[in-house]
Parts: sequence; structure tokens; C-alpha cells
Amino acid sequence: MLEWLHGLSGERVMETIWKPLLRAKFDGGFEKVPATYIWSRLVRTTSSHDKGSRELMCFLEGGYMQLIQALAADIIKRGGTINLGATVEHVRAQHGRINGLTVDGQTLNGDGVVITTQTPVAQRLLPREFAGQHERWGRLNEYLGIVCVTVALRRRLSPYYTLNITDSRIPFTGVIETTNLIDPQYSGGYHLVYLPKYVGAGSSYARMSDDELIGRFRAQLLQMFPDLREGDIAAVRIGRERYVEPLHPVGCTDDVPPIVSEVPGLFLANAAQIYPQLTNGESVVAHAGHAAQAIVAALRPAGQGHSLPALVPAPAAD
Ligand SMILES: Cc1cc2nc3c(=O)[nH]c(=O)nc-3n(C[C@H](O)[C@H](O)[C@H](O)COP(=O)(O)OP(=O)(O)OC[C@H]3O[C@@H](n4cnc5c(N)ncnc54)[C@H](O)[C@@H]3O)c2cc1C
Repeated sequence: MLEWLHGLSGERVMETIWKPLLRAKFDGGFEKVPATYIWSRLVRTTSSHDKGSRELMCFLEGGYMQLIQALAADIIKRGGTINLGATVEHVRAQHGRINGLTVDGQTLNGDGVVITTQTPVAQRLLPREFAGQHERWGRLNEYLGIVCVTVALRRRLSPYYTLNITDSRIPFTGVIETTNLIDPQYSGGYHLVYLPKYVGAGSSYARMSDDELIGRFRAQLLQMFPDLREGDIAAVRIGRERYVEPLHPVGCTDDVPPIVSEVPGLFLANAAQIYPQLTNGESVVAHAGHAAQAIVAALRPAGQGHSLPALVPAPAAD
């Protein structure tokens, strides 16, 4: 990718734009990123512009919660059950076949499981007897994590939705002011600014205490925007996640974990299977539809309709 970008842009643009942006996005390790990544970003940028080159963006009033609640209501209407706050401990198996889950110490019987967590989490849920499947999923299971400081301001910070950062002294990847798209009436009158930092497995930022992280990010923000005052900051929150951005090094396309596994009744559907498109809400929803079709097709005996059997709580004696 670097060679290709260098040929397109020349040395100066490479050093001042591309390398700093890639360094920020991949926490330094961008040498193995394929050219298709840049291609996907260019496709996304051009596809969000109208014929007059105006960028078009939209938002859901009330945020993603509106969509989640509508989906949940429809799942329940169709006879589904949703267990919030439940931790799946492991997938259960007997004689080489799936026979349910253990959820918060409770056994759920069933002969089909679709895991939708990130791949390393899915690997941890597998019983020991599926070592082959564990190895197959392990061929491509690296992710970047993220720490994201969210700041609620009493005033607007800048006129921009996104400021990409190329200055390596600044710890965050960008300044995303979502209230330049979303009317602040939907965020209690506050202006919302996200300061994300993508972090590799060994990053010191991933291990930093909340106080130190907030201190560093806040100081940098005040330095970047000298007219911003401490009193303008109404609240600061931190979000952390170890597995966010699935990495697809060049030459590893064949290692993408398949939806239909080698174990009868076991399926995996996650964002690491989305390639070369970028992962976001839109591509995740499209992938979920594709995964559902693949799973139904795998379960259907030749010429017959068949749906995934529901998981049912096991009798107490089990
Ligand atoms: C800071 C940030 C901002 C973003 N902004 C946008 C945006 O503006 N627009 C957009 O389109 N996309 C955005 N994205 C990307 C989007 O959030 C992801 O692409 C999407 O959430 C991926 O969905 P997913 O279902 O694959 O994974 P996740 O949303 O991560 O879902 C996985 C779920 O599995 C659960 N889980 C894990 N282990 C277990 C277990 N053992 N038992 C039970 N449950 C378990 C987790 O709690 C989690 O809820 C953003 C991402 C980040 C990090």
C-alpha cells in the first residue's frame, strides 16, 4: 500500500498527510495494511457526496437506541426472547455436536448457536473438543482497541464534524463534533465532542487510569482550542473497548473466519468477516442479513425449509 500511495501522491503528501493519518488510525502499525483499505475509504467518501460534491450525512433522532428498541420490539413480536445483561460463559457440546450454552451458570439446551461477538471472544467460548475450529478462527483474530473520551461542552468547539489529526504530539486520532450534524436540542443543549484513540494490544493508553487519560486529553484540547475555557466543559466520560477494529493484513483474505463453521450447528457472524468494506453500522447490518441467509441455507436440508431451533432453558436436573 505504501508504495502505491507514494506513487500516487509523492514524497511530501506521503510524509505530511498519509503517514500521520495511517499512524493515528492504526496506532503506528500500518506497514501491513492493504491498499484496499484506502480504496474502501475513498469509496465511502465519494459515495456520501451528491452530484454537486456536497457531503450528505444523516442521523437518527434519539440515536441508535431508536433502532435498537424497534428491532427488539419486532424480535419479541415474532416470538423471540432477549436476555439483557446476560454473559454467555461457553458453548456446550456433546459427541461433536452443539447442544446449547451456559449463560450466567444456567444451561440452555439447543442444537444451534450463532456467535456474534468478536473472534477472540468467540474462541474463548468454544469447548476444548473443538480445537480445530479454535485454530481456524485464530488465523485472523487481531483487533485494534479504542479509548474514547467524550466531552459535553456548553458551547460549540469548531464548525467541523470531523477534524483528522496529523500532529503526532496529539494523543487522539481526531476531534469529532457530532452536534455539528445533530441538532444540540437532541443532546440536552450540550455540544458533544468525541476524542477517540485507537490502541494496539500493548498501548500504554489502553492501560492508563481514567484520571490520567482525562487529564492528558483535556490539556491537549485546551491547547488546540485556546479560546476554550475550563468552564465550557460540562462533563467528560471515557469509553474503552479491547476489540474494535478487525485487522486484515495484506495477503490474509483466505484466513477470514467463515460464517458456517466445521462444527454442525455452530456459526460465527461478526465484523471481522466484513472485507474489504469498512466496518460501521451500515455494513454490519448488511452483513447480518447476509449471515442470516447463509445460516438458513446451511441448516436447510436439500429442498426443504428449516429455521434455527430456539434455545430453551434446560430442566433443572440437567
Ligand atoms: C468510538 C466509536 C464510534 C463509532 N461510531 C460509529 C458511527 O457513528 N456510525 C457507525 O455506523 N458506526 C460507528 N462505529 C462502529 C460500530 O460501532 C461498529 O461497527 C458496530 O458496533 C459493530 O457491531 P457488532 O455487533 O459487530 O459488535 P459490538 O457492537 O461490539 O457487539 C458485540 C456485543 O457482544 C457482547 N458480548 C461480548 N462477549 C459476550 C459474552 N460472553 N456474552 C454476552 N455478550 C457478549 C458485547 O457486550 C457487545 O454488546 C463506532 C465505533 C466506535 C468504537
